[in-house]
Amino acid sequence: MRLHEYQAKEVFADAGIPTPAAELAASVDDAVAAAEAIGYPVAVKAQVHVGGRGKAGGIELAESESEVREVADDILGMDLKGYTVERVLVEEAVDFVNELYVGVTMDRGEGKPVAMVSTRGGVNIEEVAEEDPEAIAREHIDPAFGMHPYQARRAVYEAGVDRDIANSVARVLQTLYQVWEDRDGSDAEINPLMVTADDEIVAADAVLNVDDDALFRQPEMAEYDEEGEFSEDELERKADEYGFDYVRLSGNVGIIGNGAGLVMTTLDLVDYYGGEPANFLDVGGGAKAERISNALDMVFSDENVDAVVFNIFGGITRGDEVARGINEALEQFDEIPKPVVVRLAGTNAEEGMEILNADLVTVEQTLEDAVQRAVGYAEEVDQ
Ligand code: GDP
Ligand code: MN
Repeated sequence: MRLHEYQAKEVFADAGIPTPAAELAASVDDAVAAAEAIGYPVAVKAQVHVGGRGKAGGIELAESESEVREVADDILGMDLKGYTVERVLVEEAVDFVNELYVGVTMDRGEGKPVAMVSTRGGVNIEEVAEEDPEAIAREHIDPAFGMHPYQARRAVYEAGVDRDIANSVARVLQTLYQVWEDRDGSDAEINPLMVTADDEIVAADAVLNVDDDALFRQPEMAEYDEEGEFSEDELERKADEYGFDYVRLSGNVGIIGNGAGLVMTTLDLVDYYGGEPANFLDVGGGAKAERISNALDMVFSDENVDAVVFNIFGGITRGDEVARGINEALEQFDEIPKPVVVRLAGTNAEEGMEILNADLVTVEQTLEDAVQRAVGYAEEVDQ
C-alpha cells in the first residue's frame, strides 16, 4: 500500500524527521487560505499515487495569492499519469542549496534491509542507480539488531555528504529505518532531503509503502487507505472466517484440495493443461460436510470461476467421509451453479467414488483426467 506524500510526511514528522509546514487543500480557495496561513513562497503539490510529479507538471511554486490561485487551479483536476488530482499539498517552499536522497528498502538478493544515501537527490534515483551506482552508498542492516548509529554515519560519509550536516543526515537515515521497520514498510524514501543555506535539513518529499500483508497489524496505516484501494479482497476475508488458506488468482478454474502441496500441484496441472487457476484453496485436514460446503461456497461465489476441480488425498481424512460431505453440500442446491469434477485417492478412495452422486459431480479416476475435464468445462463456458 502506497501512502500519499502528505500521509508519509505525517508519519515521518511524528517520528522526528523535519518536514515543511504544510496543509492539504481540495479547492482553490482552500489552497489560497493555506498559503496565506503558511506564508509565501509556497510549493503546491498534487497528491496522487505517482512518482515524478515535478517533471509531469504536478508541482508548482507560488509567490503570491494570485499565483497560488493560478497554480492550484491548474493542478486541481489535472490528469497526472492517469490519476485525477483531487487534492494538493500546500507547503512552505524550502530555499535549498542541495538535494540529497535517503531511502530504505528490502534487498532481496542479500535477504536484508538496505539503507541508502546519495548526494544526487532531487532526480530519479533509479536513473542514478543505473548510470552511476557508486553515487549511492549502501548499508545492509541486520533486522535482529536494527540500524546502529555507526552504520548510519558510515553510509553518510561514504556518500560524501558535507561534514557540517553529516550528523543530522545520519539521524534522519536512522529514524527512517526505524519507521520502515515499525510500520512494516516495503519502501521508505526521502527524495529530495533538502539542505538549506544555514545547514538545516528538511524532507521535501516523502514516500512510504507499507506491505499489504502487514496491514492487519498496522491499523493506523490501513486507515490511510482513503480510496479503499488496498482493502482485503471480499473472498479472502471470507476465507479467514472459514479458516482456509486461500489466495485469489485471476483464472476461471476453481481449485479445492487438502494439503498445500497437493493444491499447488493441482494449480500447476491446471496451467499445464492450458487452463488458468482461479484460486488456491486448502481445506486442510478433516472433511466434514460443513467444511466442504464452505469451500464450495468460496469457489461458487467467485464470479470468475467457470468450473471446479476437487483434489482430495485421503490419509487420516477418509475418502468415504469426503464423498458424503460433497454429496451433502451439493444436495443443498436446486441447481449446481458450476460443474464440479472430483478426484479421490488414498484411504477409502474406492468407497468414496462409489458414494459420490454422479448426478451432482463428475468423478475421474486420475488427477490428470480430473484436471483436464475441469479445464475442458471451463473452456466450454468461456466460449
Ligand atoms: P516528485 O517529482 O513526485 O518526486 O516530487 P518532489 O516532491 O520530489 O518534487 C520534485 C522537485 O520539485 C524537487 O526536487 C524540487 O526541485 C522541487 N520542489 C519541491 N518542493 C519544493 C520546495 O519546497 N521548494 C523548492 N524550491 N522546490 C521544490
Ligand atoms: Mn521526489
